[in-house]
Amino acid sequence: MNYLNLSSATDHERVVRCVDEPSGLHAIVAIHNTRLGPAMGGCRRWCYAGENAALEDVLNLSQGMTYKNAIAGLPIGGGKSVIMSEQPGTKVSDEQLSAFGEFVEFLGGAYIAAEDVGMGVVDLKKINQYTKFVTGVNADAAGGFGGDPSPNTAMGVLNGIKTAVRFKLGRSDLQGLSVAVQGLGNVGYQLCQFLHAQGAKLIVTDIDAERIHAARDTFGATVVGLEEILFQNTDVVSPCAMGGILHKDMIDRLQCSIIAGAANNQLRAQNVGALIAGRNILYAPDYVINAGGIISASYEYMRGGDAQWVSEKIANISYQLEKIFVQSECSGLPTNIIADALARDIIAAA
Ligand code: NAD
Repeated sequence: MNYLNLSSATDHERVVRCVDEPSGLHAIVAIHNTRLGPAMGGCRRWCYAGENAALEDVLNLSQGMTYKNAIAGLPIGGGKSVIMSEQPGTKVSDEQLSAFGEFVEFLGGAYIAAEDVGMGVVDLKKINQYTKFVTGVNADAAGGFGGDPSPNTAMGVLNGIKTAVRFKLGRSDLQGLSVAVQGLGNVGYQLCQFLHAQGAKLIVTDIDAERIHAARDTFGATVVGLEEILFQNTDVVSPCAMGGILHKDMIDRLQCSIIAGAANNQLRAQNVGALIAGRNILYAPDYVINAGGIISASYEYMRGGDAQWVSEKIANISYQLEKIFVQSECSGLPTNIIADALARDIIAAA
């Protein structure tokens, strides 16, 4: 197992790369900020264009976790990890999961791993055999909360969409509202289930044909192409796949009133928030609206306490979003800038 410290070039507290030749594991853990507590965040398995792309992703994602955890009111800092896969769609091997577990253990609790794209509860459970610094694996041990974080993420996003709809469209229900969902994975599919139950009309896409068919057959969703989903003439666009999808070259083509979804790092650059606001579209900052999963995962990790705590924290997502929307309207600053400032204030006051 070969560890290399990559920290010097970043404003992160610690960035470590692990290469394990026997298993083929190539992973990076980025610990952004631990002022509020140990760094917690998901482990993403993805096929990157190269190590630089993986590094850029993990640095951005871990900073987002610091801000997310702060605004969610959690006693944890921000971190994230990535496992580089050689080919898209391949499964992670047990040997790689065990090597990754040893890597997390080597960090001694400075980083606590959870689920993210490309990793599921089964994978986390295998990692958990080699380190205790894992969460989102066992709902039974946490009084029914914890375990797979995706349903709580989806619930938080649903509540966030309702808050945005109330603020922007002056409506208190979702009956008949159109929502375009990009990505039907652990969060996106569950979100569709919630939205469908509340009477929303769904437009969906995914790269996985089976998931598209399931959404069409189960929710009566309209299916559109991968390149069309963000440009639908809908009330809400809900990005629930990968990040970086909102950028300066596509903002002119948006036709929705609200962007509110689970995907991390939706804005390719910070100034895209102003371009979205300039189109009179309300953007729910991603790391605020998608905090439901980390709330449940952190509850499981801390073990004990009042289960009511999770529901109150998830309800707090709506409160924080509303505050951000109001401040944005009053100040004329975009919602993402307001959210960043709010998070930095919470961390500075700690
Ligand atoms: P997932 O891997 O289960 O699902 C992602 C889905 O997106 C897959 O179905 C995949 O096929 C699809 N997809 C990938 N690229 C696509 C594209 N270009 N167009 C359309 N679909 C595409 O991941 P997830 O756990 O559902 O997470 C989704 C997003 O939400 C990620 O950005 C993740 O970081 C974020 N998030 C997840 C959680 C959680 O609790 N799982 C919490 C917070 C944030």
